[in-house]
Amino acid sequence: MENSGDQFDVIIVGAGIMGSCTAYQAAKRGRKVLLLEQFDFLHHRGSSHGESRTIRATYPEHYYSSMVIESSHLWEEAQSEIGYRVYFKTPHFDVGPADDKSLQSVITSCQAKSIPHCILDRRQVAEKFSGKFNLPENWIGLWTELGGVIKPTKAVSMFQTLAIQRGAVLRDYMEVKEIKRDDVKGDILVITSNGDKYWGNKCVVTAGAWTKKLVETVSGLEVPIQPLNTTVQYWRIKEGSEKDYSLTGGFPTFAGYGDPYIYGTPSLEFPGLIKIAVHGGYPCDPDKRSWVPVLITNPVNDWIEGKFCGLVESSKPVITQSCMYSMTPDGDFVIDFLGGDFGRDVVVAGGFSGHGFKMGPVVGRILADLVLDGEAQGVELSHFRLGRFEENPKGNLKEFDDQVCPYLQPSE
Ligand SMILES: Cc1cc2nc3c(=O)[nH]c(=O)nc-3n(C[C@H](O)[C@H](O)[C@H](O)COP(=O)(O)OP(=O)(O)OC[C@H]3O[C@@H](n4cnc5c(N)ncnc54)[C@H](O)[C@@H]3O)c2cc1C
Repeated sequence: MENSGDQFDVIIVGAGIMGSCTAYQAAKRGRKVLLLEQFDFLHHRGSSHGESRTIRATYPEHYYSSMVIESSHLWEEAQSEIGYRVYFKTPHFDVGPADDKSLQSVITSCQAKSIPHCILDRRQVAEKFSGKFNLPENWIGLWTELGGVIKPTKAVSMFQTLAIQRGAVLRDYMEVKEIKRDDVKGDILVITSNGDKYWGNKCVVTAGAWTKKLVETVSGLEVPIQPLNTTVQYWRIKEGSEKDYSLTGGFPTFAGYGDPYIYGTPSLEFPGLIKIAVHGGYPCDPDKRSWVPVLITNPVNDWIEGKFCGLVESSKPVITQSCMYSMTPDGDFVIDFLGGDFGRDVVVAGGFSGHGFKMGPVVGRILADLVLDGEAQGVELSHFRLGRFEENPKGNLKEFDDQVCPYLQPSE
């Protein structure tokens, strides 16, 4: 097989957004890079496919805000290099009960990071949106300019193309079965299910919902990353209001704090439809998915009805799409050296917990830094360490029962 037996500086396992951005970053630095993907490139069986992902700098945790700001520059840089758009800018709008702790932390984080923002009360929101966004009593809105919609499949394709242009080798239908140290050569040996062997000075595992399985197979380490089956829903906008709720009409990306946590993007990919979905899902095995749409119970419909009264045509979505989250118990990413026999030669990046896409470019930069320089500047990696699961009692897989969203359930 072509390339089998070859030696690379960096071998990356998994060609979702994280692996593709890492391949680009490492190839850009002149390194010999191999990116291996178990399925077709741009497949729909992981987490990085589809029509839209939100980018926003508003996070309760200030370390994510800094990462998003860097990422937004890297998105623009990559777009200029390729010559087409994957990142469509629009403001971002968070809403929630005024006393919601997470929303309050978001505001504190905006202040700490000097993110220009504007806090609006219920009346000001009604005025700003001419009655098209209604908040309950005691709710507030937080308006920020850094928002937008990223086209996921197109963005992954963009980074793969840029990586190829910089000399990276990309191979699909290459399921990695083994990663081990070659005692003779001292390198990392990566073996695929068809028997191909590749040697790398360094290896990066960006296997999304398969991270737990793969890491356990190659190192015995049990990383609490739980795949969740989730669903995206598109709702039909009432005739005559399509422009008001569209990105071209200036409508923001948005999120609703509280229970349930709701997120949405303005009408863009399907004219006349708006994406409004609930954050969460139910545990699944990434190799045995039912593909059955998730049922949304009334609280989500009530949310839509209450905030966008008269926006949607009916109480049912017109399109539902299946996707997977890779959840950690605390919702923070995993970005760390695997350690053990691998020392600092293998890095794992997973558990992006339903909010990682926007940060693909900065995560790619960090992963390239880690494997090529041994450290990454400008990011607080302490939050993403593997060791935290041993130190913190929340790092127990049983805790996932608390995380499963009650509004999303299998409909079988
Ligand atoms: C419905 C939904 C909405 C979301 N909305 C947002 C949003 O608005 N904003 C945001 O920032 N984020 C959002 N996210 C989260 C974001 O999409 C994910 O965090 C991100 O796509 C994760 O990328 P990844 O590369 O880690 O995983 P993946 O995209 O799953 O990539 C991992 C890849 O590794 C491959 N692989 C696995 N095992 C092997 C192996 N053994 N050998 C070879 N290849 C292997 C897989 O096939 C896969 O292609 C959303 C996610 C979903 C599902």
